[in-house]
Amino acid sequence: MRTVVAKFGGTSLADAKQFRKIKEIIAEDPDRRYIVASAPGKRFPEDTKVTDLLLRCWEEASAGNDFETYLEMVRKRFSDIIAELGMDFPLDEEIAEFRKHLQTDPQRDYTASRGEYLNSRILAEYLGFTFVDPEWCVCFDENGVLDQAMTRRALGASLKPLEKAVIAGFYGADMNGRIHTLSRGGSDVTGSLAAAAIQADLYENWTDVPGLLAADPRIVEQPMTVQFVSYRELRTLSYMGASVLHTDAVLPVSDMGIPINIRNTYEPEDPGTMIVRKIPKGEKKYPIIAVAGRQGMSVIQVEKVMVSDESGFTAIMLDILKNRQLPFEQCLTGIDSVTVVIRSDLLEPCKEDLFTEIRETLKPDFLGLKENLSMIAIIGEKGTEVCDANVRVLQSLTQEDIQISTINQGAGKLNLLIGVPDEKYEEAIRAIYRTIDESIHETV
Ligand code: ASP
Repeated sequence: MRTVVAKFGGTSLADAKQFRKIKEIIAEDPDRRYIVASAPGKRFPEDTKVTDLLLRCWEEASAGNDFETYLEMVRKRFSDIIAELGMDFPLDEEIAEFRKHLQTDPQRDYTASRGEYLNSRILAEYLGFTFVDPEWCVCFDENGVLDQAMTRRALGASLKPLEKAVIAGFYGADMNGRIHTLSRGGSDVTGSLAAAAIQADLYENWTDVPGLLAADPRIVEQPMTVQFVSYRELRTLSYMGASVLHTDAVLPVSDMGIPINIRNTYEPEDPGTMIVRKIPKGEKKYPIIAVAGRQGMSVIQVEKVMVSDESGFTAIMLDILKNRQLPFEQCLTGIDSVTVVIRSDLLEPCKEDLFTEIRETLKPDFLGLKENLSMIAIIGEKGTEVCDANVRVLQSLTQEDIQISTINQGAGKLNLLIGVPDEKYEEAIRAIYRTIDESIHETV
């Protein structure tokens, strides 16, 4: 028998209809033994997530204002679910206790955690599973930082003896019993911690999208869903802003090689996206799997004849940035030049001072700045064919008359990073996506 941890996000648990749907999904595979639940999310685009309602309760309560309007909105979300499912759940007692907390000593994290707490308790009862409160097994240190090693031991000890369980996502507690939450969307992390703790065979992450898309759907019409993506490729994609999973959710399972399967609650038959250490044998491997990018970048160009012979030149340049706590995105070095890519919003406030310092310290022959650039990542781990794929990508940009400002590919060949003007960003993404689409159709 396999063990599957299945995490359901806020939209998958937003109302009674969704509860029914996920009950069916869980029943379809008896290996889905450990369920991680989020708080009820949005039922329609203009709706408010229960976590946001709870945070409004806390804001009002801590300012000494009346919070009853928001508390009633929270209560109603849960009472609708309970009533529609015909359940007998002590909601009024829970709300009364929570009200007391808000009146006496309102704590932000405790308040925010009540959405997951209540939803998971209701779900556990509805499924007939045991409820596991992460207060006892997701461990934070006294500074409110998650203690992964202790959590793994405690979660493992809590879950292993249970045949089937529902664990509330998003929060845990420190040694003094004080509740701490993870960052927003943190139930993904709880799911990952649970999968690692019980050495699950698979971590399913059920959400409201088909999986990881090969391009931003706001730019490319109906982009393909990526079938397989490696943990490393996913890192680049998340860094570039593709947000399908909390970034901290990868490490606990990738360490152990547990695959993550992104699934769509609205299309449960779809296989979704598998996030794996290595693409399994027999599966098609494409040279490029996705394209993503970030706008609002600036490029500092420092030129000096024979830089390559001058020991420490690049190190001094990077030290200047470090001393100003200015992180950089990329650093490209050439024979007579050093080029650094920096986010424009970080550079802007200190631009003048920084340039003066570079001029005085490095005495360059030329110091230039290019602004309003976008960095596009062409992602694909299949090294051997990347060379040909790169040529196609560059050709697609020149065909569209898109000027290339920077090109960066390390020896790792995980991704090719290309700088283009901001105003050409969307055109560039579409042109590159077409090459991915063509290459996939040629391989099939
Ligand atoms: N409910 C929390 C949030 O809205 C955590 C989560 O859904 O994962 O961020």
